Formats: sequence, C-alpha cells, structure tokens
Amino acid sequence: VAGAATPSRSASGSALAPNYAPLPVTLVAGEGAWVTDDAGRRHLDLLAGYSALNFGHRHPALVAAAHAQLDRLTLTSRAFDHDLLEPFARALAGLVGPLVAPGRDALVLPMNTGAEAVETAIKAARKWGYEVKGVPADRATVVVAHGNFHGRTTTIVSFSDDPDARDGFGPFTPGFRAVPFGDAAALRAAIDETTVAVLLEPVQGEHGVVVPPADYLPSVRAACDEADVLLVADEIQSGLGRTGRTLACETWGVRPDLVTLGKALGGGILPVSAVVGRADVLGVLTAGTHGSTFGGNALACAVGLAVVDLLSPGDVQAAAAERGRELGTWLDALVADGLLTGYRRLGLWAGLDVPHGTGRAACEAMLREGVLAKDTHGRTLRVAPPLTITPDDLAEALARTARALRSL
Ligand code: PLP
Repeated sequence: VAGAATPSRSASGSALAPNYAPLPVTLVAGEGAWVTDDAGRRHLDLLAGYSALNFGHRHPALVAAAHAQLDRLTLTSRAFDHDLLEPFARALAGLVGPLVAPGRDALVLPMNTGAEAVETAIKAARKWGYEVKGVPADRATVVVAHGNFHGRTTTIVSFSDDPDARDGFGPFTPGFRAVPFGDAAALRAAIDETTVAVLLEPVQGEHGVVVPPADYLPSVRAACDEADVLLVADEIQSGLGRTGRTLACETWGVRPDLVTLGKALGGGILPVSAVVGRADVLGVLTAGTHGSTFGGNALACAVGLAVVDLLSPGDVQAAAAERGRELGTWLDALVADGLLTGYRRLGLWAGLDVPHGTGRAACEAMLREGVLAKDTHGRTLRVAPPLTITPDDLAEALARTARALRSL
C-alpha cells in the first residue's frame, strides 16, 4: 500500500541499532556452562554474561524461584511494599553488610542495572557530602581511576577515558577527577576538602582484569579514612563469588563504605542491582529523592533471595577459588608454550594477552572450537566461566582454547 509505514533497516538488514559487534553465533538454549546455537552446536560459555551468569545458565534453584514468583506476584512498584522486599534487603545486608560499613549498620538500596547502582552511589555520596561532611553546594568531587568502566549513562561516561564510550556524548557531568589505577599516592594527592568519595573497581574488569598491587586498596582505605571520604567499591563484575570470595575487596581485607552489586545478583535471569553500605550514608536519601519503578520488584527479590541463598554457605566462592587455581595452571602452560604473552587472574577471572592478532581474532578462533569468550581491548580477552563449571568442563574449555590459540 502506497505510503504504508515499513520498518527501517540498516545496511546489514538488521532492525537493531548497531551499538554491538557480537561474535557470529546465535544462541537458542543454555544449561550450566553450556549453550547451544541455532545450528545445534554446543559451546562452553567462558564469558558467563560478563559475570551475570556466575551460577551458569538456568540454575535450577534460581529458575524455580522465578517460576514460583511468576505464579504469585511480579511487580508492585515502590508505591506499595511486597512481602519479599524486606526479606531480600535483610538477606543481602546479612551477606554483604559485614564486609562493608566497618562497625556500622548496613542498608540496601535495590535498583535494576549496574549503571543505575553506580549512579545511586554517586548521588548518595554527593548528598552525604553536602549534608553531613559540609562540602559547599554543588562543589562535590569524586576521585576515580583511569581505565575505569562503571556503565554507560551520561554521568558515568563523563569520567571514562575510553574514547569509544565518551566521544560524541558531551556535554559531560563535572565533579570527577581521574588518577592512575594502582597509584595510591596519586589518589591521595587528588583528594581535597571537596572530595566526597573515591569510586573504584577493586579489579578493573573491562580494562582487562587488571589486579592492583597488594598494598593499593589498603592504602586507598587509609587515605579515605584520613580525609573523611567514602570508599565506594564497584563490585558489579568482581563481586558475588567471581574472585573466590563474596567481594573482591576481601582479598585485601578492605571494607568499603558503599558497594555496588549487579550482574550475578539477578541470577542470569533479570537485571537486579543494589547499593549496600553505611546506613548513615544511604540514609540521606529520603522519600522522593531517589527511586525506580522496577527497583526491588517482587520477581527481582525472589531471584535475588535465591542468589543470596546460593552464596551464603560459601561453597560457590570456594569452588571459584579452586577452579581459579586450575585456570592459573593452564594459563601458565599457555604462556610457557608462547600462546599467550601473559595474563592477570584473580579467582575464576582472567585477562589473557595474545602474542599476535587481536583479542577479537582469538575469540573467533575459540568460537570455531566451540568455546565462547569476549575480547576487551586490543590483544586482551577475558575468561570468566560460570563459577559452577565442573573441573572436567573447565579442562575441556581450556583445551579448546589452547587449540584455538595454536591455530592463529
Ligand atoms: N560496573 C562495572 C564494574 C561493570 O563491569 C559494569 C558492566 O560491565 C557496570 C558497572 C554496568 O552494568 P550494567 O551494564 O548492568 O549497567
């Protein structure tokens, strides 16, 4: 019909905006560490949804919790409470509270995506800075690290130094100072009387699983304490078992004031994020000053509660640490064989540097061998299998990885 609206298509014929360049594979099913593509081929998943799938695909306890909740109540908005909101908050505060908020009560503020949790932490830190610390209005600064990745909102890309994330999206939100990651002296020098928070990933995931020097986070904690500055740890990728501990910060015995969680908190089923931390900081957000229609919805709380249940005994974290040691042994062998120039690892999480070509080319070769991973930048790719992967499946995935790297 003349004039009838037809959906527009890009040159590739796709109806999708071109903001991703996925590997050429279309997945139709997943179970545990395995996924199946539309040609019926099975692959081992070494990305695990950027750690959103820490418990693997369709973990039975998580799927059961979601199914049961779908049959009962899914969403109320925060205009009304529902019966799982307080239990979820108490459970998460019980798991993570003792690891943050040194000596104080912890509160939980549920949101949806990781970026929202980071935005929430920034807002809370600023308001605390004005109302409690006494920073003059609109002068608050937050110290961040070069190479950071905290999400994609306009404020968050304002303090990114990745041109792809930033260019073309200004004007930017002021009030951030970036210093080299791992350099505690530079961080200390960037703090002044306007500084309300230091916001860091304890391990920089998107930057290539960059693990800081052992004395870094303890020194940062000390600098924050001396200057009455909040330490905000973004554990959206590093938290909930990935490093062999509930929080990566535990590796160095450091307790942040606020921690952002996401990804695995939704069990690979739906977006669930949260800020957990000091009651006197999150308490500055009074009714009407912050919120989200979906934050803390009933389905999210049901899944989030089941996630906390999975993490509470500590077995998942212990398994991640054990599989991580096995991963390290494999990676040492790949370096010895000249298939990698090096790697960085904490727990079941590693950034691998390939000697030639690109991380992308390595991931494409791995895809041909039936193992899925994702490049980060340049020659680096990231390996982050489900924490529930069996020793045999991990060995199989790494044998396939070695074959792929040898083919390059
Ligand atoms: N913070 C960190 C450390 C992340 O790794 C990510 C995502 O990769 C985010 C925040 C953003 O999370 P989301 O994509 O759910 O907004």
